[in-house]
Amino acid sequence: MTTSKGYTYSASVFAGPYYLSIAGDLVSTAEHFDVFNPATGQVLAQAPSGSPEQLETAIASAKSAFKTWSALSYDQRQVYLNAYADALQAHRDELSQLLTLEQGKPLKTMAEPEVDQAISWIRQIATRRIPVEIVEDNDSHVVELHHTPLGVIGAITPWNFPVLLALWKVAPALITGNTMVIKPSPFTPLTTLRFGQIAQAVLPPGVLSVVSGGNELGPQMTAHADIAKISFTGSTETGKHVIRSAAGTMKRLTMEMGGNDAAIVLPDADFKAIIPQLYWGAVGNSGQWCVGIKRLYVHSSYRAEFVEAFVDYAKQQKMGNGLDPEVTVGPVQNKMQFDKVRTFLDDIKANGYKVVLGGEVDESRPGYFIPVTVVDNPPEQSMIVQQEQFGPIVPIIAYDDVDDVVARANDSPFGLGGSVWGRDTKAAVAVANRLETGMVWVNEIHTQGIDVPFGGHKQSGLGTEHGHEGRLLFTNPKTVLIKK
Ligand code: NAD
Repeated sequence: MTTSKGYTYSASVFAGPYYLSIAGDLVSTAEHFDVFNPATGQVLAQAPSGSPEQLETAIASAKSAFKTWSALSYDQRQVYLNAYADALQAHRDELSQLLTLEQGKPLKTMAEPEVDQAISWIRQIATRRIPVEIVEDNDSHVVELHHTPLGVIGAITPWNFPVLLALWKVAPALITGNTMVIKPSPFTPLTTLRFGQIAQAVLPPGVLSVVSGGNELGPQMTAHADIAKISFTGSTETGKHVIRSAAGTMKRLTMEMGGNDAAIVLPDADFKAIIPQLYWGAVGNSGQWCVGIKRLYVHSSYRAEFVEAFVDYAKQQKMGNGLDPEVTVGPVQNKMQFDKVRTFLDDIKANGYKVVLGGEVDESRPGYFIPVTVVDNPPEQSMIVQQEQFGPIVPIIAYDDVDDVVARANDSPFGLGGSVWGRDTKAAVAVANRLETGMVWVNEIHTQGIDVPFGGHKQSGLGTEHGHEGRLLFTNPKTVLIKK
C-alpha cells in the first residue's frame, strides 16, 4: 500500500480487525474505539474495547493456566519463549510498521530497533534462572530459599514504547512461572493486540492475554483479588492511583514512572563531540522517553558555543511521517500529549524565555507535530526545567559550580535517570555517584541490558525491572527450613 505522500508499507498491517486475546482465543467485542495515526491525525484503525466481563474472563483464564505453567521447568518455559520469539520474528516487519503507524516513531531508527530489541530480550531473558539458594546448613538443619512464581501478573503499559515496555514485562514474568494479562494504553493498543494474537499460536491458553479498552480497565486490574502483582509503566500521577488501589489486596508492585532527568556536561567535557548523543538522548522518540534528557546543564564557560552547535545539529534532522526513510523525528503520539507539550511552549513564550530553535507549532500541518525547540538558559524555577515535558523541547541551562548543579539536579521529586559527561571519567563518576537517581550514565546514555537493573528513585518508581533484582520481583521468596 502506498500513502498519498508515497510512503509504502505492507498492506497486511491493516488486515484487521483486531481482537482481544483471551484464553487462547481471539475475541471480538461489542464496542470499539478509534486509534489515530499521529503523523496524520486520521483514524488508523478500530481497536476492540474489552468489557469488564471480558477482562474478568482473561484474569480467570490466567489463574487457571498458572497451575500448569508454573509447574513446568524453566527449561520447558524457555522452549515456549523461544518459540514466541521466533513467531514474533516472523512478524517483525509488520509489527515495526504498525508501531510507526500507531506511535509515530521513525521506522528505521526507532520502530525496527524497538521490535528487534524486544525479540532479542525475550530470547536472552529466557536463558536466566533463579536457583534455590542454601542460606544455612548446619548440624541440625538446612534452610533453602526458593523463589516461587506469584500467580497472575497484570501489566499496564504506556504509549511511548508500546512493544518494548510490554515485552520487558512478559519475558521475566513468564520465565519465572507467572501468567499475564496485559492492558495496553488506549492510544497504542494495536501492536500489543497483534503480539498478543501471535502469542496464542505458540503459548498455552491463558498464559498471555491482551485486553484493550479504556482507562477504566486499569482500576479493575489493580483492585482484582486474583491478580498477584501489577507491573506498571506510566505517569507518576496514575502510578499513585495504582498504588492506592493495589493496597486493598496487598499486591506486589513494580512501578516505572515519570522522570525529569538531568544531563550534566562538566567543564572539561569535549562538548562538541557529544552533541549527537545529547541531542538524541533528549529528542529521540520526540522526547517521549521516561529516561530522556529533560534538563541539559552545561558549564557557562562554553554555553553559547554549545547552544550554537546543538542547534546546528538539530537543523540537520528532518521531522515528519516516520514511514519516510529520511525522517528522524516523528510527531508526538497523541492529541492529549500534543496539547500538554503546547502548554510548555505557551509558558516559554509568555515568560519571554530565549527560544533559539522551534517554538511555534505549524497550525496548518496535520498530525501532532511539535517542532524541536531549544530554550537557551531558562530560569531554574521555570516550568520547562521543573516539570516533565515529555516532548521535543530541550532547555539548555547554564551552571558555574559543580556542587550547585548537583544540588539543582537533585532538587526534584523525580529520580529516574541522569547522565554525567566529562573527559576525566573518574571525576564524572564521582559526580554521578552524588545524583539521587535509580540509574545514571557516565559518558554514554540509554545503554541497557537484560542483567542491568532499570528503575527509579523517589517518585519515579518502586522496585526495578531487568537484572536479577528485577526478575526476583516476579517471585515470592519462600524459606524452607528442614530439620536434619
Ligand atoms: P499514563 O499514566 O497516562 O498511562 C499508563 C497506563 O495506565 C495506560 O495503560 C493507562 O490506560 C493506564 N491507566 C490510566 N488510568 C489508570 C488507573 N486509574 N489505574 C490503572 N491504570 C490506569 O501514562 P502515559 O501517558 O501512557 O505514559 C507517559 C508517562 O509514562 C510519562 O510520565 C513517562 O515518564 C512514563 N514512563 C515511565 C517509564 C519508566 O520506565 N519509568 C517508561 C515509559 C514511560
